[in-house]
Amino acid sequence: MKAGDIIAAVATAPGRSGIGIIRVSGPHLGRIVDGLVARPLPARRAVLTEFRDGGGVTIDQGIALFFPGPRSYTGEDVLELHGHGGPVVLRMLLERCLALGARVAAPGEFTRRAFLNAKLDLAQAEGVIDLIEAATTQAARCAVRSLSGEFSKQIQSLISELVGLRALVEATLDFPDEEIDFLKQADAEARLRGTRRQLESVLAAAQQGSLLREGIHIVLAGQPNVGKSSLLNRLAGQELAIVTDIPGTTRDTIRQAIDVGGVPVHIIDTAGLRDPRDLVEKLGIGRAWTAIEEADLMLFVIDATQGETSADRQILDRLPPALSCVRVMNKIDLTSLPPRVDRVAGTTTVWLSAKTGVGIDLLRDALLESVGGHSTSEGLFLARARHLEALKSAQHHLHQADRRYGELELFAEELRRAQEALAVIVGEFTPDELLGEIFSRFCIGK
Ligand code: GDP
Repeated sequence: MKAGDIIAAVATAPGRSGIGIIRVSGPHLGRIVDGLVARPLPARRAVLTEFRDGGGVTIDQGIALFFPGPRSYTGEDVLELHGHGGPVVLRMLLERCLALGARVAAPGEFTRRAFLNAKLDLAQAEGVIDLIEAATTQAARCAVRSLSGEFSKQIQSLISELVGLRALVEATLDFPDEEIDFLKQADAEARLRGTRRQLESVLAAAQQGSLLREGIHIVLAGQPNVGKSSLLNRLAGQELAIVTDIPGTTRDTIRQAIDVGGVPVHIIDTAGLRDPRDLVEKLGIGRAWTAIEEADLMLFVIDATQGETSADRQILDRLPPALSCVRVMNKIDLTSLPPRVDRVAGTTTVWLSAKTGVGIDLLRDALLESVGGHSTSEGLFLARARHLEALKSAQHHLHQADRRYGELELFAEELRRAQEALAVIVGEFTPDELLGEIFSRFCIGK
């Protein structure tokens, strides 16, 4: 993959469509333009023209657009041919480009060139693919925010804060005998605190946004026979788990992804959390507790005809304190209670019937709300695991820096490492393998 090559690809999806687009990029496209179109192409103007083969015969007619570098998507000369969207005609056009010296572009190669030519940074490039792959409206909104550089801007602002702080530390290190303590004068401690707060809020927005990409992991738990499997089936809209009235039917965890208000939700149905009767049940219960520890949210089901029992309280007391919990009072069809939602002292309780379906909508809303109100994607970033990892690493180093305030050299080193972690997000420090991995997931022609 040489940067000096001319690359070409069909940029529209395979199949038949009204319009099909061929995209070409390279340092100089004079030969390709002359060999294909019958007229000179002014910069950035749509020109209706014929596209010709080597013998001067018309392959198609359409719109040609020429973007001379560096004012183009890739930063090089870019030519777009908007012809008719038939696979044969597009193949003929592509072959003509190849005959004139282009080669077929690798997946994501246009965007990779844009990145290498600093037309966009790595987080923006990832926004491109995330937007194309967005499965829900909310995910698309978040992706376009990254693509337009909002996420990068926040990262860059953190980086420049750290650069400023590091300069102060270096100055203090360089002039140890100076009367003025640069750090104190500039109130470096307060600045570091401010930067840490800023980082916390970016991390929170990124973590929330990553739910849109990764989904929410919800553990469904409660006593045997309260209706967990029935509730799972109702939420998923299909028969997944075995529903019986013999306690202990669900022996293993079952995972299923469902769409709740635009957010993918992974439901983990756990083995009835009771004292095991045999080894298989014991293993199932062991796994349930592992799933609970890794989940974002617990959905705890109680039989409304019995109310909360001491066995329920025992389970609730064992839950990790940080795990948010939504309680479901199920089987209200057997009582005279109406469906409703109750929020008392940080606990949400929903009264419903898994059997009849009343109150299920209330539960869907409560689930979204309890993981951070995903009725809107405002201000969130569709963060990837590598972004979260980098943000957490920067957070760790800033925490260390705070503790090392008195030891200037160590303080400086922690600031440097935090900055380096952030720089990986926007691609300032990025190993080639990572670039390869990111861009190879793009489609051809992007
Ligand atoms: P699990 O052991 O907690 O997974 O419970 P199941 O989903 O297997 O349900 C146990 C029994 O309760 C089954 O006979 C279900 O039909 C019944 N059941 C579940 N939900 C409801 C409900 O909302 N109303 C009524 N009347 N019965 C229910």
